Amino acid sequence: MAVQPLSSPSAGTFTSARKAQSLWDYEWKATVPFLAVHLLPFGALVTGAGLRDFVVCAVLYVVRMFGVTGGYHRYFSHRTFKTSRWFQFVLAWLAQSSSQRGVLWWAAHHRDHHKYSDTPRDPHSPIQFGFWHAHVGWIYDHNSETKTERVRDLAKFPELRFLDRFWWLPPATLGFAVWALFGWSGLFIGFGLSTVLVWHGTFTINSLTHLVGKRRFETGDESRNHWLLALITLGEGWHNNHHYYQGSVRQGFYWWEIDVTYYVIRALAAVGLVWDVREPPARVYAEARRAAGRRALSRIAAEGGRKTREPPRRAA
Ligand SMILES: [Zn+2]
Ligand SMILES: [Zn+2]
Repeated sequence: MAVQPLSSPSAGTFTSARKAQSLWDYEWKATVPFLAVHLLPFGALVTGAGLRDFVVCAVLYVVRMFGVTGGYHRYFSHRTFKTSRWFQFVLAWLAQSSSQRGVLWWAAHHRDHHKYSDTPRDPHSPIQFGFWHAHVGWIYDHNSETKTERVRDLAKFPELRFLDRFWWLPPATLGFAVWALFGWSGLFIGFGLSTVLVWHGTFTINSLTHLVGKRRFETGDESRNHWLLALITLGEGWHNNHHYYQGSVRQGFYWWEIDVTYYVIRALAAVGLVWDVREPPARVYAEARRAAGRRALSRIAAEGGRKTREPPRRAA
């Protein structure tokens, strides 16, 4: 796709979503706790760690990754299913236990990502600003304010505004509980390592899923589908599907596109905790078939072109 220049005349008076011009312009003071958590797992070199710590790590990875994908993303950002007010609060707490700021902050920035995808106004586009800015730099690029006008539907709940303001409360409570239950090695591996893994697993969706993988749909951006990224993020790697049709809980559009978040939400619907679970409509599948047809035709045309360019073989 064509990348819009920063001074595009159609862009009016806006400034680029990237504010930091050099490495020193990032908010380094705010990165101290973020970097400190990266050092936590090294504490296990002193305390040692056992199987129990790694089981806690695995459980906290899966449960909190679901909080990110089922909570921050598919519920708060895209409202692809409905739930009660108390379970909405549970989802917000669970999402924020992954320590990715408040649900309003997360959803507001994510809605901007879809609105301006891969243009200079996209808060995290690897096409525009490079891999590292899209992966993590954008978080510390003077982006800590919540754009409430983007999330009026969520901001009307005082309990969500409270959580957004005190976003560190769920991860701090979880870290303390893990330390109290499993000791220092539990904190270092069970909480620390799983937090770092959930962070970078989530961040691959902002960086790698706009760089590697296949494109099924024409979306006007560089979003891609990648099975491995879908596995580590419980289904978020079907990112081109998602950019094409954002209104669906389901992001792996076919049975072979593993989407664990979708299965969990279906299970929650089966026990009545959530409802109105939205699926991709028939027109989306029709377009997927047309797109597959177009790709097959262009492959045949390319092979035909290669054959006509080959020099005729000489008789022996
Ligand atoms: Zn999205
Ligand atoms: Zn995207």
